[in-house]
Amino acid sequence: MSLFSAVEMAPRDPILGLNEAFNADTRANKVNLGVGVYYNEQGRIPLLRAVAEAEKARIEAHAPRGYLPIEGIAAYDQAVQKLLFGADSELLAQGRVVTTQAVGGTGALKTGADFLKRLLPNAVVAISDPSWENHRALFESAGFPVQNYRYYDAATNGVNRAGLLEDLKALPARSIVVLHACCHNPTGVDLELDDWKAVLEVLREREHVPFLDIAYQGFGSGIDDDAFAVRLFAQSGLQFFVSSSFSKSFSLYGERVGALSVVTSSKEEAGRVLSQVKRVIRTNYSNPPTHGATVVASVLNSPELRAMWEAELGEMRTRIHSMRLAMVEQLAAQGAKRDFSFVARQRGMFSYSGLTAEQVDRLKNEFGIYAVSTGRICVAALNNSNLESVTRAITQVL
Ligand code: PLP
Repeated sequence: MSLFSAVEMAPRDPILGLNEAFNADTRANKVNLGVGVYYNEQGRIPLLRAVAEAEKARIEAHAPRGYLPIEGIAAYDQAVQKLLFGADSELLAQGRVVTTQAVGGTGALKTGADFLKRLLPNAVVAISDPSWENHRALFESAGFPVQNYRYYDAATNGVNRAGLLEDLKALPARSIVVLHACCHNPTGVDLELDDWKAVLEVLREREHVPFLDIAYQGFGSGIDDDAFAVRLFAQSGLQFFVSSSFSKSFSLYGERVGALSVVTSSKEEAGRVLSQVKRVIRTNYSNPPTHGATVVASVLNSPELRAMWEAELGEMRTRIHSMRLAMVEQLAAQGAKRDFSFVARQRGMFSYSGLTAEQVDRLKNEFGIYAVSTGRICVAALNNSNLESVTRAITQVL
């Protein structure tokens, strides 16, 4: 009998499964709104000019590819810290933040989860309902039980504020609470300033451990505005975790460029925490890859390339927003039976459109338009060539 005869087929990843179905579809006017990727007006994943410049310089330098330190490139880690906490952050000046390069935002979450499992082996992890689908699996695979806290309110297309605070209060003391710092995936609905303050107070009261996940910095309102929650927590005196990613903001999906930052209470504590996070990394993948982080560090540390990147990030943000406005306008003009104005208020790449699983199915079968069965659509995959057919199809399935 084969060693593997009892191995069961794992369930298909819902979003990757959607991509496979999309690729197999032969209809010429098919549209994939299922992905979590930014496409430009031409329907392609852009290679940013700032990235291309930094890569050119790197190739010309013929840099050797030795092992990196376990915590990654120092210039990269420091640049990440400034982006998240602000260049004039007191915490950074005090040496209280530990930042390690990570294999994408996912790798940052996993490194943080593994370290937390050693620190708080009996804790519960709470994630938003709904959340990025990998959050639950990731923390469960690190050994934690995972619960939902109420977040999205379908009736208002907004946040269920009372439910959120009530659920955070009801968690066992010292739970780990995962929060989307901006551009909530999948809903596009973010907390407002006062909500963040109220959440922070509950976390403090219940001694919960905040784990801020920021995968879309710069896609909401701008680099500094989108880091609002991170900076508010930085001022709170609490210890917390931040996972961050450059997959989207640098359009470097396949290079796996992210970081884990841990805010501690002193420089001395930071040294001890770093030593333990390094142990987690060492036993998982030893040390991170060179290319993506070198490119990001060169861009962030060169005034010229940085200005170029900020402009390109701004173009991506503006294009998504203009697609939101155009989508709302066209749906209204085509006489859609529902008010979609909430789409214009959502932030980041995604919109919880309110379409049902059945309507999503019809979009696929009748029109070759692919979306996630929850109704999540990627607004960043819309462009002026496909917008009209997408909005017409939505109007028809309503
Ligand atoms: N966190 C959230 C909320 C995300 O949406 C994503 C990617 O879609 C990630 C983390 C992971 O990012 P990365 O692709 O860098 O691993």
